[in-house]
Amino acid sequence: MTFLGKRVTVLGAGQSGLAAARVLRDRGAEVFVSDHNALAPSVKAELARLGISFEEQGHTEQALLRAQLIVLSPGVPINAPIVARARALGIPIWGELELAYRLCPSKKIIAVTGTNGKSTTTRLIEELLTHNGARAISAGNIGTPLAARLNEISPETIVVLEVSSFQLESIERFRPHVAVFLNIAPNHLDRHSCFAEYLSTKCRILENQTEHDVLVLPRALSLPKRPRSQVLYYDDLLPELSALSVPSHMRANAAAAWAACRVFVPELPPPTEEIIRRVQLPHRQQFIAEVDGVKFYDDSKATTVHATIAALEAFPGPLVLILGGRNKNLDFAPLAHALRSKEICEILLMGEAAPQIAQALEAAQISRFSFVKDFSEAVARALRYPGATCLLSPACASFDQFHSYAERGQAFRQAVLQAQHLD
Ligand code: ADP
Repeated sequence: MTFLGKRVTVLGAGQSGLAAARVLRDRGAEVFVSDHNALAPSVKAELARLGISFEEQGHTEQALLRAQLIVLSPGVPINAPIVARARALGIPIWGELELAYRLCPSKKIIAVTGTNGKSTTTRLIEELLTHNGARAISAGNIGTPLAARLNEISPETIVVLEVSSFQLESIERFRPHVAVFLNIAPNHLDRHSCFAEYLSTKCRILENQTEHDVLVLPRALSLPKRPRSQVLYYDDLLPELSALSVPSHMRANAAAAWAACRVFVPELPPPTEEIIRRVQLPHRQQFIAEVDGVKFYDDSKATTVHATIAALEAFPGPLVLILGGRNKNLDFAPLAHALRSKEICEILLMGEAAPQIAQALEAAQISRFSFVKDFSEAVARALRYPGATCLLSPACASFDQFHSYAERGQAFRQAVLQAQHLD
């Protein structure tokens, strides 16, 4: 596919937008990049080196003028005024995923979506395939955008994509041969207008699938529309994985991963504990250290109520649980309900959402909570409970106090290691 002489505007100069701009320029397009925020000097230098013109700190009419195609970064909301204007002008709008899909040399695509477990399952699928001699590559929301990996892909490569609801908002023809829909629970209700809209955006992963394609999902997940694709329920594989000594959410991810891999490699052996452990990603129920008989775990990536409930199932207790951060407009009542049956030493609340979580706990008649100002205070309080597990699994986004979940997890780790050092 060539873009020779085509005038394309890329909205958003994040990792995905920049990857799209590079690919488009390599294929002969006249690219213009427009970003709402100020660009880092390194990004400006890179664009200048590539001969790509750009604007920053706002989108002007220049972004739309003469554009024959708009490519969107997943960070730019589909309802942003600039996107609405482009649509009104009849300019086609593709997300980076749509662009990269059209240019992808392989159509052996496994796309993974769901509320929780996408990154873990994507890595697991890649690992299971490569461990068994297949050529596979992961990309998408997991780290490197697909547009940045196209040169590493041949027609035989199995491409494993982690796909977020934001990426699915701007697809047109994207059609994975295997779609994995892991689970669905409320999330991102600060950006999607309601749960139904969030679910229907996720369902766009199936939109272009035909009866030749496969959908992997759990039996409990009810879809608003009947899929055209062949359905494989991954829970049917769970009995074959019952010997795995891993938390139940990981067994579910492993079953989904195995089902997806077997579409391409029917004889693929089941995932082992060793492989599952090998793909453990940081900040997902990750052990940090034991200090004075308290075991500390970092699950900073648990930014939804659903992920924190999964962590509660994985850690039987007694528990010191750290919750809080920025609420994504989620209801904390189900979490408070799940906590009622747990052996809780204390729940420590931090950040913007702390008062709201406290309300939900009170409504569930849970009184063993207190407010802490930072992780040092949280760790000091946790040390009052030798024999307990102290788990940061906040059920909230990190952006009230940190740049990312990773930075938050790192700050927690630092506080734990500092306490260990003072010991
Ligand atoms: P995602 O990419 O969807 O955010 P991750 O694999 O990064 O998913 O995990 C995010 C959080 O969700 C972590 O706290 C992890 O322990 C939890 N998690 C992983 N798999 C599941 C699952 N199947 N159900 C519920 N929570 C899960």
